[in-house]
This record gives sequence, C-alpha cells and structure tokens, in this order.
Amino acid sequence: MVEPKKRNMKRRYVRTSGGVVRLHFGKRKSSKHECALCGRTMHGMLHGSGISEAHDAAKTEKRPSALLAGALCNKCRAVATEEAIKVKHGIKPIDEVDLGFRKYAEMIMKRIE
Ligand SMILES: [Zn+2]
Repeated sequence: MVEPKKRNMKRRYVRTSGGVVRLHFGKRKSSKHECALCGRTMHGMLHGSGISEAHDAAKTEKRPSALLAGALCNKCRAVATEEAIKVKHGIKPIDEVDLGFRKYAEMIMKRIE
C-alpha cells in the first residue's frame, strides 16, 4: 500500500543504476477546479498537472468554450443564463435575481447583446 501522504503525488517508474525498476514519487498533483458558486468539481478542466504542463496544453484542453465555463459549473451556468435572459426581456427585475447569481447574470447580459 502506498503511504497515505503520498497518494496524491505523481508517480513514475525509474530504472536505477543497479538495474532495478523502482517507484519514484514526484511533486503533488494540483487540485481539481471548483465552481465559484456551488463548489462542485468542474468537468473539462485541466487538473493534476503543474504550470509548465498547463503552458504546453492547448487552450481548448484547459476549459470548455461556453460562456463563463472557466468559473461556473454547467448547472450554475444554466441558471445564470436563464436569469440573464429573463432580465433582458423584462420578465424579471435584476433586484429579484439571487445575489450569488446576479454578478454572473450581468456578465452574461453584456455578452449576449
Ligand atoms: Zn456550480
């Protein structure tokens, strides 16, 4: 069994000078990205790699291309978009939008004009 403190470290098999293959542990993996509102793990985001590996990755590997995909999970994004559309078409005043979603609804309203 791997030591509990090494469970989230990167592992690599290394052939030593004696010819023996051993397991070596490297840096810790970076944590998964979380939604800014609900804290759920976000899908489609790069995780487990360091800064240098993130630099090598393509832009589309780092985040989904939807509106606010780098900040909110898909469920919160759907709610914020719905609220933004309601406010834009005069169905709901901006004061009645939930405080957590208001900032993101305003950001979406600017983008969907
Ligand atoms: Zn969320």
